[in-house]
Amino acid sequence: MQEIVPGLWDVGELKSIVPVHAYLWRWAQGVTIIDTGTPGNEAILLAGVKALGLQPSDVKRIIITHGDVDHTGSLKALKRATGAQVICHTVEKEFLDYPQRRKPAKTALGLLMRPIFALAMQFPPYRVAPLSPDRTHVDGDKLPEGFTIVHTPGHTPGHISLLHPEKRFLIAGDALHNRGGKLGAPPALFTPDMENAHGSIWKLAKKYGNDFDVAVFGHGPPIRERAGEALTALVAQLFEAEAKP
Ligand SMILES: [Zn+2]
Repeated sequence: MQEIVPGLWDVGELKSIVPVHAYLWRWAQGVTIIDTGTPGNEAILLAGVKALGLQPSDVKRIIITHGDVDHTGSLKALKRATGAQVICHTVEKEFLDYPQRRKPAKTALGLLMRPIFALAMQFPPYRVAPLSPDRTHVDGDKLPEGFTIVHTPGHTPGHISLLHPEKRFLIAGDALHNRGGKLGAPPALFTPDMENAHGSIWKLAKKYGNDFDVAVFGHGPPIRERAGEALTALVAQLFEAEAKP
């Protein structure tokens, strides 16, 4: 486990279809877990809580950036272990209630993958137990942890990123990736609305780019300084690519 900024802990790369990160945020009222890895990752997250000298009951809230198996996989087990309040975007509630509704994009490959993906989701380790959130939020809502909800749709319709303006960090979720230390848009296969996904990266950079120095991701290592500038550079690249005939 690694402390990224004071109070924000990366529990490490969790084994998944692709390695994925989940985070603990320690604040005045206890701990908030951000994303939960794949099914079976609950013990690693709870070990992280213990490493902070805390109990499962100190986990007060679990925030889900979006309803994908690598982010909601251990949600139900963690809810059971901690009794924490579960939070997501209002639009994303559908994927927490009905995980099997999440599908690959309507590209040629995505359509080919849909039955395989649907089948895989019926069996461990990809079967996600449905769990209805306790609270839902929309863009701009302020949370007691100090986070501002930034609605960043595209990868999924109700995807959110979490900005902590006071501590100047961003939890991007899968609004963008930093795989291999290279920033990029989320993968086309699982991003049904790439235009909106690009728009969301644009929003993070243009609207909030001056509000954070550090960024952490669902996939890939953190950016520890000048993260807003890195996002702005990515936006220039993405939209230049789009502008080309
Ligand atoms: Zn992911």
